[in-house]
Amino acid sequence: MNLNDCFNSIAVTQEATFIPREIWTTLIERHRSMIKIVEGFENSEQICKMIEDVAGELGINQKLEEISIKHPPDTPIDMNYLSSDNKSLELEIVDSLDNLEGRVRHELMHVADQLDGKFKHKNSLVPPEGTGAFRRYKYLWNVYIDSRLVKSGKPSYDTQEAREKEIEECYPELSACLRKRCFTFLWGMGLLDFEQISAMSYGLFSIFEELKSLAQAHGEKQITFDTIEELKNYGK
Ligand SMILES: [Zn+2]
Repeated sequence: MNLNDCFNSIAVTQEATFIPREIWTTLIERHRSMIKIVEGFENSEQICKMIEDVAGELGINQKLEEISIKHPPDTPIDMNYLSSDNKSLELEIVDSLDNLEGRVRHELMHVADQLDGKFKHKNSLVPPEGTGAFRRYKYLWNVYIDSRLVKSGKPSYDTQEAREKEIEECYPELSACLRKRCFTFLWGMGLLDFEQISAMSYGLFSIFEELKSLAQAHGEKQITFDTIEELKNYGK
């Protein structure tokens, strides 16, 4: 059975109207042409397939007109850039099969959040780059994404253990005990929106009562770091 027959048999079993071959072909081609990849990827086929599958599962393929896949610059990290009209997406993906599914799912969750009206993403709420708040903002959103992936049994960018370890880099001024309790709370949180993530990146204990009382019980306060260097060098 070829692909068109296969689609038609699905349509027939679901009592949909018979769809002519030409229309299926157009649909399939449109779907395929939405993903572009630059030359030089060793794993281009697997990467495109993974992005196509996950974008379909998250429903972002219906919101975007084009996804173009590029090599990341020097520092290898997966990043995404949505156009200002939210119609096209540039994805920088490391050319590797190592945890490809987890990396793609994580990155496309950032995109799905950004395209979800309820998440209320606003560029103006992103803390200035190079500040301690920016480092914390990235961490908090990443934890929010990886925790949802792990809880739903899907591969994630980082494991729960790795994210728990990473909290020390972001809050070196807090005691190990308070950091652990904060992480447990963050990992177990329900739905968040961007305003909450942004507010927490400036003040971890500012919006949730649970975190506020944890900090009070430990008698600790967070420090605001104007630069990432100050954060990195804290206590050294
Ligand atoms: Zn991320």
